[in-house]
Amino acid sequence: MEIFGLTAREISEKVRKKEISPKEVVSAFLERVEEIEPKVRAFISITPELAMETAKQIEEHLMKGEDIGLLAGVPIAIKDNICTKGIRTTCASRILENFVPPYDATVVKLLKEAGAIIVGKTNMDEFAMGSSTENSAFFPTHNPYDLDRVPGGSSGGSAAAVSAREAPLALGSDTGGSIRQPASFCGIVGFKPTYGRVSRYGLVAFASSLDQIGPLTANVGDCILLFSIIAQYDPLDSTSAPLPTPPLEEMLVPEAKGLKIGLVQELFGEGIEEEVKEKVLEAVKYLEEKGAIVEWVSLPHLSYALPCYYIIAPSEASSNLARYDGVKYGLRVEADGIIPMYMETRDKGFGPEVKRRIMLGTYALSAGYYDAYYLKALKVRTLIKRDFDKAFEKFDILISPTSPIPPFKIGEKIDDPLKMYMADICTIPINLAALPAISLPAGLDSQGLPVGLQMIGKPFEEVVLLKTAFAYEEANPLLPLKPPI
Ligand code: GLN
Repeated sequence: MEIFGLTAREISEKVRKKEISPKEVVSAFLERVEEIEPKVRAFISITPELAMETAKQIEEHLMKGEDIGLLAGVPIAIKDNICTKGIRTTCASRILENFVPPYDATVVKLLKEAGAIIVGKTNMDEFAMGSSTENSAFFPTHNPYDLDRVPGGSSGGSAAAVSAREAPLALGSDTGGSIRQPASFCGIVGFKPTYGRVSRYGLVAFASSLDQIGPLTANVGDCILLFSIIAQYDPLDSTSAPLPTPPLEEMLVPEAKGLKIGLVQELFGEGIEEEVKEKVLEAVKYLEEKGAIVEWVSLPHLSYALPCYYIIAPSEASSNLARYDGVKYGLRVEADGIIPMYMETRDKGFGPEVKRRIMLGTYALSAGYYDAYYLKALKVRTLIKRDFDKAFEKFDILISPTSPIPPFKIGEKIDDPLKMYMADICTIPINLAALPAISLPAGLDSQGLPVGLQMIGKPFEEVVLLKTAFAYEEANPLLPLKPPI
């Protein structure tokens, strides 16, 4: 077996047993990156020297018999909106094109302590706004299953990198689906933990009440491993939940027996492609095989989730992005006076989708409109949350498709924002309700394109969710999917 074909858990075990060295691992993945990147373009920055240097250090620790963390020697790709000390962090935006953070995000610090090796920073939609990675200011990323198609977004680079095994692990961020939807499009596993489970310290803010960092991996076991490293209470994030980290051994037990699973009626209805529904319902049978009891459930307010999100997310974004003014961070375009300097900087620094969100959000928050838009959206958000609470009185897990459609062609939706926004119709309600949810491959459609299944859990009950996901993967003979290239 080629090194790049190994799972993260296998790599970590082989490194520990000294069957392979961290340097060998890194070299193998860097070679793979060199081979794949011209076609896929998953990375904005690749950091080979740094990766080799870290591998060398881990090797020295290993030889001295010192404790080398659970991810020792395992390469990881990091979405380019997560701060990495000394490594450029662009958010795929001109405005941060040359921004080098002076500190590490908490998740990056935890990864380094666990011995993971950062191989690069991945492409994304600018400031995580989008569903296709076409909103990157630099270049689009290509789906490894079909290079003419998008990898999804906004964590499209992370998803494509793992799908093509340029790295066994990646981190993404999910505000309305940005981990799960690209995972679905690229045939891998993508997990958004409960809001507050993983620290957001050092994640460049998009919509602060929705943003959450999470793993993108080729299989459920690796997802569990990575989650166990990053799910730590962090006093540096005031929304971080002061809860103990779920024990790794407890999560690594596949189990679905006796679980009550609800299929969300509204997310199998209008707007969901027939073949997607079929694939997801076929996949659910594997859970029944494992002893789960499956029934339909209705969440009537879900039809308001998309409009609700597109008030809340742009409102928070307009406030968060006010800091990019040519003074404090990144790009500055000189002009005659301070106001013209602000205007020129923001005009040249932001792309069209980011500008659209800033305008929508500023309007929704402005005096006289706040009550009609933002406050109303918050009330609708509560109704959606209550629908979930009610469903979880009866069910342990809820299931829907991850995306209503399979991966679409590059260029197909870029001129129609509303069509693009529809790509997140199944994932957005979960962020509004602050719940954990995981996307798992449900198989390939008749065109050979991946279809994803979304499992939604109760708040902070990631253990149940991940065990169920593990049981599903074990029962489905197609999984984990092989790298498409
Ligand atoms: N596609 C959604 C948006 O454009 C979600 C993005 C995300 O989760 N970051 O806002």
